[in-house]
Amino acid sequence: MSLRSKVAVVTGSTSGIGLCIARALAAEGADVVINGFGNLQDIETERDKIVAEFGVRCAYSPADMTRPEEISAMIAAAASDFGSVDILVNNAGIQFVAPVDEFPVDKWNQILAINLSAAFHAMRAAIPGMKARGWGRIISTASAHSKVASPFKSAYVAAKHGLDGLTKTVALEVATHGVTANCISPGYVWTPLVENQIPETMKARGLTRDQVINDVLLAAQPTKQFVKPEEVAALAVFLCSDAAAQITGANLSIDGGWTAE
Ligand code: NAD
Repeated sequence: MSLRSKVAVVTGSTSGIGLCIARALAAEGADVVINGFGNLQDIETERDKIVAEFGVRCAYSPADMTRPEEISAMIAAAASDFGSVDILVNNAGIQFVAPVDEFPVDKWNQILAINLSAAFHAMRAAIPGMKARGWGRIISTASAHSKVASPFKSAYVAAKHGLDGLTKTVALEVATHGVTANCISPGYVWTPLVENQIPETMKARGLTRDQVINDVLLAAQPTKQFVKPEEVAALAVFLCSDAAAQITGANLSIDGGWTAE
């Protein structure tokens, strides 16, 4: 399969799963726009590596996913600089763990903005071009938490369930235009997002670090293994292939069996 001449925008791709997806799409020949926060020198190094390793164009957008105008400007800049936006990966996401009655209101608003509303703003900006060209792939990194809940993650679970509903709705709206929209729902993937929630979970549940890893995180996954970012990226690449043209409105689990229980 080749994605040469396709342009992909991957939100939240300066780290973790997003960076892995951006690199996997570039490996198939897609030009990519990476996005997210972090040390600018490190981001530039990742950008240079993508260009050098895969011979594609790669731009960096610092758009903040809490700001609708920055999201639409990122899509517009990708379309004008690289010619189109054919693949949109809504991946940026944050987590916060606290009981609902202690959940900080600003964290609730931030999680809903980044994990859910940002996908709406990016989709509405990218879809007209996809429809005009009769081809598009929209992939949203949801989560096992788009299907099942865990305590102390009210905002995250609400946002990810919402992302599933948004993606299904969009899939129906673009179904006759050669555009697919799907969610990928990983279980626990070892990335900074998971590592950073360990102290909050230790506090919320009164557990040690090892207990959080083994009794909370891996307890959810029957395989007793973390999902690898590369495995999530491979599924994203498959969804961009012609073989996946009839997969739309789906929410594909990659969770070591978590949501089978
Ligand atoms: P990560 O923390 O490694 O990466 C998150 C990315 O989002 C980073 O590039 C960060 O800079 C970016 N980001 C955060 N706030 C942003 C903002 N306001 N604007 C733009 N970019 C922003 O986390 P990850 O684990 O790779 O998570 C990626 C996605 O996968 C998230 O949507 C997350 O909910 C989802 N997910 C992760 C896991 C897991 O176990 N790691 C499981 C299921 C789903």
